[in-house]
Amino acid sequence: MFFIGIFGIETKQKEIKRIASALCKECRTGELILYKQFNMFHFFFIPLFKWGVKYYLVCKDCNTIYEISIEKGKAVEENREDITYWDLKVLHRGDVKVYCSHCNREVNEEFEYCPHCGSKI
Ligand SMILES: [Zn+2]
Ligand SMILES: [Zn+2]
Repeated sequence: MFFIGIFGIETKQKEIKRIASALCKECRTGELILYKQFNMFHFFFIPLFKWGVKYYLVCKDCNTIYEISIEKGKAVEENREDITYWDLKVLHRGDVKVYCSHCNREVNEEFEYCPHCGSKI
């Protein structure tokens, strides 16, 4: 295979910036980082074109991933707009911990009753 390394397609992820205008909706304290992901077609290590650009936000604390539109992502990258609470659309929930209000022990968020003390969560 002669062409490996000459032509190539790569998926790249780039950290754009920290978001100062909003905090993570899931853990309420985490700082959000704007990431840009795109596919890059290159020839002899020269990037030729990009496509499939996607923007998303990742919470530094709980790793929740939020999806944002390309238009919005671009506007934020170019400092034309800010991320607000309403832009946060959860794509993947991070490790947000749920505690039983009765015994205060950590429980699985899918449980309706606490496995430790049996109270309703
Ligand atoms: Zn978070
Ligand atoms: Zn409990």
